[in-house]
Amino acid sequence: MGILIRDVRLLDSAENERTDIYITGDHISGIGREPRGFSADEVIDGSGKTLMPGLINCHTHAYMSLMRNYADDLPFHEWLFGRITPVEDALTPEEAYWGNMLSVIEMIRTGTTTFVDMQMFPKMSVRACADSGMRAVITRGLVGSDRNDEGGRARIAQALEEMEYGREIGANVDFALGPHAIYTCGEDFLRYVGELAAEKDLSLNIHLAETEYEYNTCLSEHGCTPVEYLSGLGFFDRRILLAHCVFLSDGDYSLLRNPNVHVVTNPASNMKLANGFAPVARMLKEGVNVALGTDSAASNNSLNMFTEMRLLTMAQKGAAKDALVLTADETVRIATENGAEAIGRDDLGSIGVGKTADLILIDENCPNLRPVYNMKAACAYSATGYEVSDVLIGGKLVMRNRNLTTIDEEKVYFETGRIAEKYRPGRAVPGK
Ligand SMILES: [Zn+2]
Repeated sequence: MGILIRDVRLLDSAENERTDIYITGDHISGIGREPRGFSADEVIDGSGKTLMPGLINCHTHAYMSLMRNYADDLPFHEWLFGRITPVEDALTPEEAYWGNMLSVIEMIRTGTTTFVDMQMFPKMSVRACADSGMRAVITRGLVGSDRNDEGGRARIAQALEEMEYGREIGANVDFALGPHAIYTCGEDFLRYVGELAAEKDLSLNIHLAETEYEYNTCLSEHGCTPVEYLSGLGFFDRRILLAHCVFLSDGDYSLLRNPNVHVVTNPASNMKLANGFAPVARMLKEGVNVALGTDSAASNNSLNMFTEMRLLTMAQKGAAKDALVLTADETVRIATENGAEAIGRDDLGSIGVGKTADLILIDENCPNLRPVYNMKAACAYSATGYEVSDVLIGGKLVMRNRNLTTIDEEKVYFETGRIAEKYRPGRAVPGK
């Protein structure tokens, strides 16, 4: 299968500089020069379009789109434990599947080609990826008190079974282990998950230092910061994604400056749940890899990486009172290359011969992008996400001229509407 994207602008190029991109199978086989033996099954007219790497959303809970605008304007603990958790506990796996599909639609339409998910309905996000062609790193959220906790062990067993399932159905999916947080996992349980990650050679994905309450509780219970606590458990000896890191001590930065450690900042979620602003500019300055995530549509309330980029850079500039603190260039890099580095995929997040063809086309003929002086600035400051016209994942067109090619959108809206009726706010949460 060969795809030719003709006469397209690359994100770094000047306005009049255009080139041709050749895609063979799942990768880019030529830029500006036709590779030997290439034949195009499909030709895309790239005039009036800009090509950029697909965005990498490094922190989501995709099934939670079912709870978009379900519980807002509440303090963090009341929101999570009072309103969200009861619905999560009542959802069926099939309902979670439709929530995942809704998320995948939104992500593809707004230019995301990979997401890192923490979920609690095994196989459902894998199935959504297999059905849609979406790429993901899936982690089953793990909670438990200690290594003998039956519930904790059952969740770990589900996580391992799901990995087998992912391999069987051949989805574009990698797996990691996802202990939920230091306040939902006991120390012995965390140690056990860490040992298992080492034994199975798996990466880790965890929420860390999200709230002031978590930070202060860790100080009083363990006598150290959340970052010091996890580091002390040996969690930084292998690849780990730390979602949030809003609350850090001066001493934490040197622990985060570790090639295994990748911080995922979620500015919308942190602002909406009134947790504050992660010190992203300082982390970057201190040499920490920072990637970007939206968190769930229950706390954002979208999965749109373009609006997330805008919010990230604006919030950093505003909080620091320094317009240079996070440039458009750095912001786009955080949403692409840094995300690829976080998940250990240097074939993603940038455009080059031999790289995997996870690519998006942006329609320049949108009033909010014109005149086109600087497309990177347009992406970071002006785009809404819905300027994306075409999306390729692994060389496969999953959106062509704004039409999804792998998903029956109407069916997804029908099913999620039906589920929403069941859980409508104000009604008692039904049992399973
Ligand atoms: Zn989260």
